[in-house]
Amino acid sequence: MRIEDKYGSPDERYSYKSALIDWMRRTHEPVRAGRITVRIAEKLGFCWGVDRAVAMVWDAIRKNPGRRLWLLNQIIHNPKVNEDFRQNGVQFIFGKYAEPGGFNRVQKGDVVIIPAFSAEVEHLMRMEAIGCEIVDTTCPWVEKPHRRVRKYVEEGCTVVIHGQPGHDETRATCSLVDSLHGKWLVLRGHEDADLLCAALRGEAPLAPLRGRFLQQSSRDFDPERDLSRIGMVNQTTMLATESAEIAKKVGAAVAARDASTLRLPVAKAPASFKDFDTICPATQDNQDAVIALTGATPPDLFLVLGGYDSSNTANLLRAAHARYGTYHVQEPSSIAADAIRHRDPTTGQEAITYGWLPSGPLQIALSAGASTPDTELAAVIRKLAEAVGASVTEPQSAATAS
Ligand code: SF4
Repeated sequence: MRIEDKYGSPDERYSYKSALIDWMRRTHEPVRAGRITVRIAEKLGFCWGVDRAVAMVWDAIRKNPGRRLWLLNQIIHNPKVNEDFRQNGVQFIFGKYAEPGGFNRVQKGDVVIIPAFSAEVEHLMRMEAIGCEIVDTTCPWVEKPHRRVRKYVEEGCTVVIHGQPGHDETRATCSLVDSLHGKWLVLRGHEDADLLCAALRGEAPLAPLRGRFLQQSSRDFDPERDLSRIGMVNQTTMLATESAEIAKKVGAAVAARDASTLRLPVAKAPASFKDFDTICPATQDNQDAVIALTGATPPDLFLVLGGYDSSNTANLLRAAHARYGTYHVQEPSSIAADAIRHRDPTTGQEAITYGWLPSGPLQIALSAGASTPDTELAAVIRKLAEAVGASVTEPQSAATAS
């Protein structure tokens, strides 16, 4: 999409709107096309933070004709949106769209845009040293764990994060802790948490945690020295139920350790564990909406649309139930009658499943990550209709099938 196409009326200009999806949101009606009925989750797609970040990039493009514009990395984890910015002259410093040379090509006076996930402290310092103009689209909800980890470090706690070690947001949070000379450890999920808890309870030695979490902890993290006080936060887009369970089990393990060391009842052991829920409201709402859509009466199929790198999209898949299959697809072109291209949740790799559409009437439920434009959602519904030899009429005529 070119920038000229983006600037319509003020209400329309940024948000990749779709009349079909607007209609489905407003009426709560499904789309019926041939033998399929497609329902969308009550809350899905672009969150406030993404809408704002995307708008800020379009503004930066509009206000800086002739200047070099850089995105530090993907603005959000959606290939279509990043590609739109690239087509409008924005270059990328890091990540899959990076220009050769990256940071070395950034010059004084260039505009550098910080993505919604925030940025690592050393990159911020480098931009300042070069003398770039910075456009910071960091979502305010991402700043919440930042404020909390500052407090934890001041209080002498090691920061334990439930998150994905390589995710942009978590890397930024860890770099902030490093810059404050604190210690951090990232737990990917229950398996990591169980290892930590067993060692905290004294059922396994602490020292081997160093090697086990080498890529998931601060450089000088020493499990025998650094776990006396723990402060937990989570990446804003994790599965909320999993974050709550992990915080609970780590807190219980710390309390059991302290009670045993001090020979006190668990309830009287000193509080050397703190937890602060930093899941953002949009992530929580989208997960709740998927549970509501698929929990009581599972549809035949559940599809979630979003970038393969998108943490919140992957977690929507984990929250869903379906009778025959759940699929994380990245783009409308992933869908065809005989095959579906999707991200395998076990391996994290792209996979193709043939014969994925069961015969007979099908109820299909659809959600989308917080970085997925409505226009892409509408295109997926049209591809689903095509896959069963039908089509979707425009919403003015009640969005039913031909
Ligand atoms: S998913 Fe949450 S934290 Fe991420 S941009 Fe949206 S509102 Fe902000």
